[in-house]
Formats: sequence, C-alpha cells, structure tokens
Amino acid sequence: MILRVTKYGEPILLKKGVPVKYFNKELEQLANDMIETMYANEGVGLAAQQVDQGKMICVVDLRFPSDDENADEPFTFDDKSPPLELIMPLILVNPKVTALPGESSIYEEGCLSFPEIKGGVIRPNNVEVKFQDLKGGYHKIQSSRFLGRVIQHEVDHLHGILFIDRMDKKTIDALTPELKKLKRQSRRFLNQKRKTL
Ligand SMILES: [Zn+2]
Repeated sequence: MILRVTKYGEPILLKKGVPVKYFNKELEQLANDMIETMYANEGVGLAAQQVDQGKMICVVDLRFPSDDENADEPFTFDDKSPPLELIMPLILVNPKVTALPGESSIYEEGCLSFPEIKGGVIRPNNVEVKFQDLKGGYHKIQSSRFLGRVIQHEVDHLHGILFIDRMDKKTIDALTPELKKLKRQSRRFLNQKRKTL
C-alpha cells in the first residue's frame, strides 16, 4: 500500500523513533508499504517518520537513479561487500551509524518531506552501519560512497533530525521562503485533518 508522505512542519518528523522490539508480520507489512511508497515517489530512501510512524526503521534502494547528476556514481561498497543488486531494497531496523576516520564532503541533498527543496549537507564520507533485518538478524556494512550518505540521511530522520538541521546558515537563509511556505501548507493540512476527525 502506498502511504502518504509527511511533510516539513508535521510534528512526527521531529520525533525520535522507538526501537523495534517485535519482528513480526506487522513490521514486515510496514517495511513493504514503505518500499512501495519510496518507489511511488521516486525516492532513494524513506524513514518511518515520513509515513507517520515513530519507529526505528528505514528503507533504501539505489538501483533506480533519478535525473540527479550524481546518482549514476557507481554505488559500490568496499571490496568485501556484495553487489548492490543483491541487497536492494535494503531494510534497516534499529540502525546505528558510526563515522569512520576520513574526510567529510558536501553534497546537494533532497528529501521527500521537502518537495522541490535541495541544499548542500556536509557528512562524513566513511561510515559503518549496524542494523537488524526483518527477522531480527544482525548485520554490519561499511560504505564510503553514496549509500553511506543516504543511510546517514535516513537514520537522522529516525532521530528526528532533518537535513536542514545540517545545512549551514547561508544555505538555510536562501531556503527560508520555501521552508516557510511548506510549513504553512503543513499547518493547513493538519488543521483540515483535525476538523475531519
Ligand atoms: Zn529525508
């Protein structure tokens, strides 16, 4: 089922998710719905907060590059990792990201909760990600490429952190009119929702 994507200004996006405890059918259904929703919106990642759920789960799929100029970068893991096709869509339950030594870089990010808005975000290049799968099994991957960046963006969502929180002041200042507009739209949506309940 395709779910509605929450937008900037909705309180759920600022909420830290609770860790997933039960690896059951309900979780599987949520993951499937999130993947379907991500595809329908042509995103490369989606976090639970973006479908109005305060849980520690996010999904990623980098196999279908958008018209993003950097999206055709070869999304390889380090040499020890399997080909991307084997592990996509990637479902990350209770993920934990640790930055590894190395440089950081800036990249123009977008977000399905901020339609039409893009801005440069600085993140560490090299990360290690520990996570669980839908059965509760533990896994660890390392990435020094786009995958690592997308996972960092999604895991931020799980902690109620948005990509605008990681932009510098100049970037934010330039985006302020659009952000205000989006916030107004969200306020109207929430008011409407309250009335119809
Ligand atoms: Zn996002």
